[in-house]
Amino acid sequence: MTTEILNNIQVMDINDHKEETEESVVPFERQIIDAVIEIWKEDPSTETLGFSKLHGLVKSRHKNWALSEKRMRTLLKKYGLLVNNPDQQYTYASEIRSQETPDMELPDKIKVLQTSKKGKGLYAKKNVKKGEFLWEEKPLFYVPALANMTLIKNGKACSYCGKLLTQGTRGSSGVSYLRGLDCDVCSEIWCSKECKNTDSKLHALLKHNIYNPSKSNTRKNINANAYLALQDYCLKEQWNALYAITRIYADIVSDKSGVKQKQFSAMARISQETRYKALDSSAGSFDNFQGGALFVQEQQESLWKEGFSLFSNVFPISVDDGKINYEEFMYMLGTYNINNLDSIIFLLQSHLNHNCEPSTTVKLSSNRTEGLKVYAARDIKAGEELTTSYVNPSHTVQQRQRELRVNWGFRCACEKCKNELKEQHRRKSSSSQKSNSEKDSIREMLSNTKAELGDTEITLDDPKNPSKERRKSVRFDEKVIAVSK
Ligand SMILES: [Zn+2]
Ligand SMILES: [Zn+2]
Ligand SMILES: [Zn+2]
Repeated sequence: MTTEILNNIQVMDINDHKEETEESVVPFERQIIDAVIEIWKEDPSTETLGFSKLHGLVKSRHKNWALSEKRMRTLLKKYGLLVNNPDQQYTYASEIRSQETPDMELPDKIKVLQTSKKGKGLYAKKNVKKGEFLWEEKPLFYVPALANMTLIKNGKACSYCGKLLTQGTRGSSGVSYLRGLDCDVCSEIWCSKECKNTDSKLHALLKHNIYNPSKSNTRKNINANAYLALQDYCLKEQWNALYAITRIYADIVSDKSGVKQKQFSAMARISQETRYKALDSSAGSFDNFQGGALFVQEQQESLWKEGFSLFSNVFPISVDDGKINYEEFMYMLGTYNINNLDSIIFLLQSHLNHNCEPSTTVKLSSNRTEGLKVYAARDIKAGEELTTSYVNPSHTVQQRQRELRVNWGFRCACEKCKNELKEQHRRKSSSSQKSNSEKDSIREMLSNTKAELGDTEITLDDPKNPSKERRKSVRFDEKVIAVSK
């Protein structure tokens, strides 16, 4: 009896990292997709490989897989991972909306133009020399680094700028330098009078405000207990975008002039749900997921809902009034994600459009609260657009294009991209001619010995040494990391 049962138990091992047995297995869809994504991740140049070469690579890594070229092709197609035809890839740039920015002071050399094709953009009003200073600005919405939160809560880093408060700063007696710089209510501390003055109002609103629905005072429109719960949740989930929009919205409701609300609403605006489609439907996914992007739409949605419910608890009046609903919350996430620079929102800098060979250099101050300075990266003629690069220009054209499409929704058609794609195409077609003729001669040689050959039995390429280096994409909503929940 027992042996009979044991004999009938099949042990299935779906862990990629274990040694594979000799016996041939039929891999699951997910395993196949993950294997392909892993190869692309390790060596981005494999993304331009022809299909049979890619199939050969997968087979060389999983020798016991019974996997036909046809099945793999069907699957990659099904999940939108066949990137041979870039025209079929999802883009959402045409859905991004923006309005004229109210109350913005422009530097002498710069004007804003709005075009139907590119939305808002910054342009030079006069000729500018390479290296010339263009403008500097402070954050419109400053977001303290989420990573410092534990230190901040324990009074070990400045509650505003995040600067570490070392033993030395605290003085041997413990408090001498910081007298007057700590919070009366909680254990948080600021590093300077300046940080305290700038931050203490919002600090008290977010962390000590007593929510009182009976008073129609907007200052009471924040529930501090709910904020602290949300902050803990964001820290646990590493969800920077939720943390940031909560800080931004608190800033907005406490701004009596209403200007900040108008400026945020005028920014390039898109729903996070729309952005997610680019992740969901294409090879862009693997920057943020371990191949999981294609399978977690449902989990993703329930996480957004959870985030919205925590957000609603912080701003109960705004939600009751209908100022914020789930849809608007999704727009806030999306808008934050496409406009922030190092987690901070800048009013003028966020108007810069992308070019892989940008005409400006943006220098962030090492103290994040101080903001940034912008210089001309080359000579710029009057009327020319000022641009910045949203991605690392030294990455391959495939990496750049994918990251731009997923994170900002457009297919980059700048001169650098065009030239590099052209050059790649040229090299690829000349090398494929060469390898075809090599294949032919081997085929001929083997057929002389009466060997029978299928199309895919000979792979002339050696799998390249996979390089482990891969940059982390931080611009997409960091929430997506938490898919294991
Ligand atoms: Zn500080
Ligand atoms: Zn406090
Ligand atoms: Zn480009």
